[in-house]
Amino acid sequence: MSVNDSIKTETPDMDAAPASDILSNAGLRPTRQRLALAKLLFGERGRHVSVDSLYDELVRSGAPGSLSCVYNSLRRFSEIGLVRRVPVYGSTAYFDTRLNHHHHFYAVDEDRLIDVSADAVALAAVPSPPQGYELVSIDVLLRVRRADAGAAAG
Ligand SMILES: [Zn+2]
Repeated sequence: MSVNDSIKTETPDMDAAPASDILSNAGLRPTRQRLALAKLLFGERGRHVSVDSLYDELVRSGAPGSLSCVYNSLRRFSEIGLVRRVPVYGSTAYFDTRLNHHHHFYAVDEDRLIDVSADAVALAAVPSPPQGYELVSIDVLLRVRRADAGAAAG
């Protein structure tokens, strides 16, 4: 079995599930704030949000909630596997509603993530994990910028 086989995961199909079902299926009490956040998060497939961007959406939607409420909810959702935290080093924490294994382009100048299919990345060599560790996942982050950005800056 290759590393790729072992890290493929199934995506729960949440297209049709109302926000309240998503929360109660995950064992979370559907509070008003959680419901509002779940509606924003799971209304469409494959979203990348940060605490700040989701808070902005929440405010625009007119729903109540504070920045710390959004932070705590995203952290909780991530702990129980409703969203996946995307490691982007030295930048904002991003949370992904698309749970199947995939990679990302990171547009550095726009602070934006774009999905890359897992099949589109082939790893030629992967080091063995350190003694006493097992490999959980390989997340590839390809940093990109618009090709004309360098010309404009220079
Ligand atoms: Zn993604």
